[in-house]
Amino acid sequence: MNGLERDKKVYGVLQAISEASRCLNCHEPPCSRDCPADTDPGTFIRKLKLKNIKGAVRTIKNNNILGGICGALCPTERLCMKGCSASGIDRPIEIGKIQRFLVEYGWETGFDAIQKKGFGKGRIAVIGSGPAGLACAAELAKNGYGITIFEGREEAGGVLRYGVPKFRMNTEFVERELEDVFALGVELKTSARIERGGADRLLSEGFEAVFIGTGTWSPARLDIPGSGLVNVTDSQKFLEGMRSGKDIELASKIRGKNVAVVGGGSVAMDVATTCATLGANKVYVIYRRSLREMPADEEDLDLALAHNITLRTQSVVTDLLGEDGVLTGLKGIETDWKSLGDHSAAKLVTVPGTEYSLKVDFFVRAIGMRSEEANKGLSGLVEDLPNGLVKTGDDGVSTTNKRIFVGGDAARGPALIVQAVQDGKKAAECIMKILEENKSGGGACE
Ligand SMILES: Cc1cc2nc3c(=O)[nH]c(=O)nc-3n(C[C@H](O)[C@H](O)[C@H](O)COP(=O)(O)OP(=O)(O)OC[C@H]3O[C@@H](n4cnc5c(N)ncnc54)[C@H](O)[C@@H]3O)c2cc1C
Ligand code: SF4
Repeated sequence: MNGLERDKKVYGVLQAISEASRCLNCHEPPCSRDCPADTDPGTFIRKLKLKNIKGAVRTIKNNNILGGICGALCPTERLCMKGCSASGIDRPIEIGKIQRFLVEYGWETGFDAIQKKGFGKGRIAVIGSGPAGLACAAELAKNGYGITIFEGREEAGGVLRYGVPKFRMNTEFVERELEDVFALGVELKTSARIERGGADRLLSEGFEAVFIGTGTWSPARLDIPGSGLVNVTDSQKFLEGMRSGKDIELASKIRGKNVAVVGGGSVAMDVATTCATLGANKVYVIYRRSLREMPADEEDLDLALAHNITLRTQSVVTDLLGEDGVLTGLKGIETDWKSLGDHSAAKLVTVPGTEYSLKVDFFVRAIGMRSEEANKGLSGLVEDLPNGLVKTGDDGVSTTNKRIFVGGDAARGPALIVQAVQDGKKAAECIMKILEENKSGGGACE
């Protein structure tokens, strides 16, 4: 499959059934064990194999409200497919492709798979409409709670709408899956940023609990000379610009020009591939460690390489150069490790005599994301860690305030969509438990 077709449907009904028919119906399916959001592939694949397509769709959507998006974007090779027993015979079952097919089949046939289990319960506020907030909202709404999501940006979806490039996830697909959340009666307030102390205010206004799913939207800094030059930016601004009306302006800065991206994760690859598709003359990806330590998923790295990017591993940028305030090039130097066998970042040293320079017109930092400074102190009673994340209890979602929960990237740091769904579901369970127990005398979520 050409990488640029990853946002397109991959299976038809017969292909999906044929793939499911290779499944061994494991007794305690490793695939189900390895899905953080408990989407339960073992069950939906068995149902599909028996041609119970509606049952299969029902299993996915009731376990994971973002089942279509996870099917398309999860790194399945290191999750559900990793321990698949079919690998012992030939190759693992293509679980992500089957999952995505089933969700789309449900939409195309107008099948309303989601079962509502309760009505008329209390009001809960959700801050942020990324995967964590959406999953928490859907789970609570299914169980009869009245949910309001407060979203700071103009539209819902978090990174799904404002980060992941369109060639991997088109906006229509995201919007269709979001419809399933709002069809449960979830209210959405957009351009409604919650400020410092806002979570406490929501509780005092009558919301019975608050879920914080604000993600990580502040790029890590790279303090090198020239960082203030025109055409020097970061991955978040670049990718958000590409998905919110600045794509033509950005394309005009990149077409026919040389671009350098610094970083070695999947986000750096997304940026590099996007620049290549915009018609850049040359795209360099500069990463301080070796190919072996590169954190990017193999599929994302392969896609970038298929677009002829130039990898400069074991290399750091030392200076950005400019003329009249505009970027014209960079200086860098190669790196190595102090001693053989210890490839940790701390042991990395620059190698004298390996200095180099490149002519580049556009530079993107993609070296990690942190919580926004402005999101510290959303509640006076919730403890923020020095790295900006919200401190949680052992369950990963409770905070020092019994009625405030957190999940997704805001608690974990940059992670995965399926882990944000996991946290959203877990927080919803805790909220329901606490509210039920309080009615009969109180108790915390454990
Ligand atoms: C470019 C990119 C590509 C990625 N690709 C993949 C992938 O292919 N597969 C995968 O599994 N993961 C991927 N990820 C990671 C994944 O997208 C995140 O782990 C996931 O989106 C986290 O969900 P979240 O709900 O915690 O936060 P987010 O998706 O970040 O959503 C947080 C929301 O909260 C809002 N918000 C923030 N502060 C406030 C406030 N004070 N008041 C109101 N609203 C607020 C934000 O506007 C945003 O809408 C990618 C990440 C990036 C950056
Ligand atoms: S692990 Fe593989 S073979 Fe076993 S149930 Fe899951 S998909 Fe089927």
